[in-house]
Amino acid sequence: MEFDRIVIRYGELSTKGRNRKQFIKTLAHNVKTAISDMPEVKVYGERDRMYLILNGADPTAIEARLRPIFGIQSFSPAIRTELDVEEVKKAAVVLMTELQEPNWTFKVAARRSYRDFPLDTNGINQTIGGHVLNAFPDLKVDVKQPVVKLTIDVRKEGVFLSAKHILGAGGLPVGTSGKAMLMLSGGIDSPVAGYLAMKRGVDVEAVHFHSPPYTSEKAKQKAVDLAATLSKYGGDVRMHVVPFTEIQETIKQQIPESVIMTVTRRMMLRITDQIRQKEQGLAIINGESLGQVASQTLESMTAINAVTATPIIRPVVTMDKNEIIQIAKQIDTYDLSVQPFEDCCTIFTPPSPKTKPKLEKIERYESFVDFEPLIQKAVEETESFVVESSQKQAKTEFADLF
Ligand code: ATP
Ligand code: MG
Repeated sequence: MEFDRIVIRYGELSTKGRNRKQFIKTLAHNVKTAISDMPEVKVYGERDRMYLILNGADPTAIEARLRPIFGIQSFSPAIRTELDVEEVKKAAVVLMTELQEPNWTFKVAARRSYRDFPLDTNGINQTIGGHVLNAFPDLKVDVKQPVVKLTIDVRKEGVFLSAKHILGAGGLPVGTSGKAMLMLSGGIDSPVAGYLAMKRGVDVEAVHFHSPPYTSEKAKQKAVDLAATLSKYGGDVRMHVVPFTEIQETIKQQIPESVIMTVTRRMMLRITDQIRQKEQGLAIINGESLGQVASQTLESMTAINAVTATPIIRPVVTMDKNEIIQIAKQIDTYDLSVQPFEDCCTIFTPPSPKTKPKLEKIERYESFVDFEPLIQKAVEETESFVVESSQKQAKTEFADLF
């Protein structure tokens, strides 16, 4: 007898009434994507719970895949038995054996929705609890703060036993809030912004601006690696790499130095907005944080934002750098972000950009240059591809060794 399934408890989606079906469907899809290299595992999204039937797969490996998936409140590896008291006793001992530790305590928490089972809730607690106590002489009962809570759920389909309650990532399943384009640099902030948007169910596609030969292949790879890390949280991420050299060179030649940065950002936003339209996204996400650098004053944001009416979501706008770094470390993007490769913006940025650019002036400077064909060309030559989840990549590489 061994763990044959994982029971997933839904997060906030339980309260979503009418949209519940869509939420469950999306979550099931995301779970399937995360374990698509384990075809033996079957996923069943029921109204109250989701079940993963393992068919021999290793529950610990799946555990790691489930932890980052948004929309999961908690989950537990479980054993299913027939509606038979002796079977339940056996399963309880198997389960507890795995969790033995010094000074351990436990309690049985039984639930019974199937009324024809021979024992009622109290009966289950006493009979199974007594049997477990006999099997482990060092084990004691603690009903208030047990080390192990042995949950026994009696349903029509069978009895489900579980003891490990693993906290999920919370949030909403990625995809239930629609799609948006994430402006993904190689920095610390934008991956965190992407992660936070994903947490609220946004399906994120990454847009990265690349200016060879001023920026290296490594800088681009860094953005791809960041996207791969993000894909742990929401399935494979689609990525768009925009060739930005010509526009940056034109800006450098034609635009006064003090507003180069503002104009550059406006061009990036215009291009991102066109890609968004093509991909049918609903919003744009960036990693701007108020007051962090010259481009991130309210005056700057106003001048940059003026090129589009599309909603711009700035998940980290009010966070301190330290708060952003803390999240970056938690989500495994920090070490990638601090790799020292030049970003396309840093190269052309003058030492002292205007912190309070005036929109009229910016528009006037831009009016002397025909940016439109350059923008069209950049959009047309954008390279689009899907970045596979880094977890699956690791697994494939490992398999290649044999
Ligand atoms: P980050 O840490 O995300 O790079 P930052 O603090 O360096 O942010 P800026 O360089 O001013 O801030 O960039 C502000 C935002 O503009 C970024 O968070 C990102 O969303 C977007 N951005 C900047 N550079 C690029 C790029 N090369 N490709 C795509 N988006 C970019
Ligand atoms: Mg940056």
